[in-house]
Amino acid sequence: MPRTARTHAETSNVTKLPAIDPKVPICALPPVPDRTLPPGINPFRASLIIVNGRKWVNGTRLHYYFFDQAAPSAWVGAEPQREVVRRAFKAWKDLGIGLEFSEVANPADAEIRIGFDQGDGSWSYVGRDVIDQAPDPNERTMNFGWDLTTPYGWVTALHEIGHTLGLPHEHQNPKAGIVWNEQAVLDYFRGPPNNWPDSTIHWNILRKLNLAEVSGSTWDPASVMEYAFPAGLIEQPAAFRGGVPVAAGLSPVDVQEIRGFYPALAPASDPELVAFESRRLTLAPGQQANFRIKPTMSRRYTMQTFGTSDSVMVLFEKRGAELEYLAGDDDGGEDRNALIRHRLDRNKEYVLRIRLYFAQMAGEMAVMLM
Ligand SMILES: [Zn+2]
Repeated sequence: MPRTARTHAETSNVTKLPAIDPKVPICALPPVPDRTLPPGINPFRASLIIVNGRKWVNGTRLHYYFFDQAAPSAWVGAEPQREVVRRAFKAWKDLGIGLEFSEVANPADAEIRIGFDQGDGSWSYVGRDVIDQAPDPNERTMNFGWDLTTPYGWVTALHEIGHTLGLPHEHQNPKAGIVWNEQAVLDYFRGPPNNWPDSTIHWNILRKLNLAEVSGSTWDPASVMEYAFPAGLIEQPAAFRGGVPVAAGLSPVDVQEIRGFYPALAPASDPELVAFESRRLTLAPGQQANFRIKPTMSRRYTMQTFGTSDSVMVLFEKRGAELEYLAGDDDGGEDRNALIRHRLDRNKEYVLRIRLYFAQMAGEMAVMLM
């Protein structure tokens, strides 16, 4: 094979992106208030609630919706744009994670509601904030503000979905040790194509995340959750004074982290939770326990955790191959235990999932069905 042809073949399937393009517009997260926790709460406990509290319970099926004619017309995306978003959901799912994604035709059935307003930039709420911050089915939880049918558009679609799965911005990782040239950052982002007000620059760039919101031990500049920065904005680490290139896609660390938080599930092998038999839970913060429930009687049941712990507990009903969300309770930061009261039918099967944020003593926690 001629050398030139081989070179072409070797590189033709690699996504080509400009190393550093100072003209690229970037994602701006909408500001949201911090979760309210009781005053005096132990900072370690608070940090675990903050880091885990925005993530979904693994096994959740997230429904996404594209606004159509009924919405403000600027929100409606052309079919090729929608197709990129569908492929990006599939790319995350194909990593083998336990979350499920389905497209739905009615906004009231969707946790994730997507617009393509070209004048509103690209953004998403982070994790379960999509429910807490946008409870109205007429609201968007995600917007795409530029063409997605380019290599950069593909990375943008992966990035915004990453936010919806609970991932924050990498460069705000306090462990990254980034020292900004603040004036250069302000000058750059005030100008086109971003044209951001200073409040947006502070929220998305200069603000450091609470240490616990970031689970990685070091900064991952290759993360799909990282921005591209031109030269001159970063003073430290010195290696990035020349800028940070556009991410090429999901980085190895992205893949490892999302699989760690949402591992593949095997519902058939979940232990059964039997009425009046307490089950001890030995979970590390962020870990999840899953139980099958096959009621022997149709009646109202109570499901409750015991022990000094913070957790989120969610009940699903099995419908064919799918699990339908029935009820959930989050006791993070409160002096009580997660509790669900719900009628269960003896002809049906249920799944109960418990994600631990914090436990006073490892292993000193239990769950019971009554
Ligand atoms: Zn972002």
